[in-house]
Amino acid sequence: MALIVHKYGGTSMGSTDRIRNVAKRVAKWVRAGHQLVVVPSAMSGETNRLLGLAKELSPASTTPEVMRELDMIASTGEQVSVGLLAIALQAEGIPSVSYTGWQVPVATDSSYTKARIESIDDQRVRADLAAGKVVVVAGFQGVDAQNNITTLGRGGSDTSAVAIAAAMKADECLIYTDVDGVYTTDPRIVPEARRLHTISFEEMLEMASLGSKILQIRSVEFAGKYKVPLRVLSSFTPWDIDINEEAKSGTLITFEEDENMEQAVVSGIAFNRDEAKVTLLGVPDKPGIAFQILGPVADANIDIDVIIQNVSHDGKTDFSFTVHRNDYARTMELLQNTVGPATNAAKVAGDPKICKVSIVGIGMRSHVGVASKMFRALSEEGINIQMISTSEIKTSVVIDEKYMELAVRALHKAFDLDQEATAA
Ligand code: ADP
Ligand code: ASP
Ligand code: MG
Repeated sequence: MALIVHKYGGTSMGSTDRIRNVAKRVAKWVRAGHQLVVVPSAMSGETNRLLGLAKELSPASTTPEVMRELDMIASTGEQVSVGLLAIALQAEGIPSVSYTGWQVPVATDSSYTKARIESIDDQRVRADLAAGKVVVVAGFQGVDAQNNITTLGRGGSDTSAVAIAAAMKADECLIYTDVDGVYTTDPRIVPEARRLHTISFEEMLEMASLGSKILQIRSVEFAGKYKVPLRVLSSFTPWDIDINEEAKSGTLITFEEDENMEQAVVSGIAFNRDEAKVTLLGVPDKPGIAFQILGPVADANIDIDVIIQNVSHDGKTDFSFTVHRNDYARTMELLQNTVGPATNAAKVAGDPKICKVSIVGIGMRSHVGVASKMFRALSEEGINIQMISTSEIKTSVVIDEKYMELAVRALHKAFDLDQEATAA
């Protein structure tokens, strides 16, 4: 008997028929002798609908008071899902009980809309499992020290599932979704994308942090920290396929390099449309200028991603960086009203229509010329690179948003990602 955590995403929970299908699949695992904790997301589109209602009443407000209520509202999507799934399981003859985050409780900090899980008390869940029940826990949510409901950021049910698996030392965490694993890139953008049988934890972490929405980054961080065996697989296979076949399907996140691992130089391509670029033109090129610009931005709790400072002319330079698109208006305001005047900048400019495209692979460590191959592929398509950022296992470029799909396809081809990888 193993303790297994299943997570089902929004599309997998998208209708009562699909929920019935999830219940039948979970029942199959229970009848095979396993203990199951199931973490569903809200039904597809529901979180957007709920947040849309709030926006109708208060379009741009980000006050702590409004943020608190956003979490109150958004968390209800998952509350409905857990109740429906528990009923569907009971209809299958499987004893089952559902909990919201605060009922477990899943304790988080108080950063509304992007809270971090601090601890999970698994006593109640364990008691139910011992009593022979399937426990259905709402994803995406928790509770802070003052008993306020919090949510974990979009896509946060992945993190709930992996954190519960870590806290309970589950034997495996299975993330069921609407694709049958992790692909070389989003198969919706590149139909030739290939499913990876395994992906290293480091690569998965980079892919997630660079914008690939298949797993929320914090779920990958949890998996790494607590060595949670993690697999991404399809909820759209027939529910009654052989359980051993199902258990081996999809993509396994691996923690150790093994000889059979696919060792392509570049394993995948990620893209992120959620960033915006801001530039201070004609700032004095002197010691401390970067701090003078970025210090106030950090103090305003705005995350900065790619940074670039141009070569100076006549003691003046241009300084650009990217921020999340949601923070664009706030950043521009800060630069125009405070940072620009304080640094004697000649002009403040901004562009919200950019995107970041990245190639990822642990094989890049031992291969030179990977970045130049990337730049050549982009130049052959006439795509101008605005910013570059590199690390040991990734190279990212910031380009005009309108070239995103073209860039991803060109790079997928240039690095032969549609071909089965050969061992390095
Ligand atoms: P869920 O609702 O199950 O959490 P998501 O929509 O959050 O599902 O994530 C699954 C989606 O992630 C897929 O439908 C696919 O379009 C997208 N995706 C992005 N990058 C990849 C990738 N590298 N491999 C597979 N899917 C990806
Ligand atoms: N329902 C939440 C969202 O749409 C959480 C999730 O699906 O993982 O972001
Ligand atoms: Mg998701």
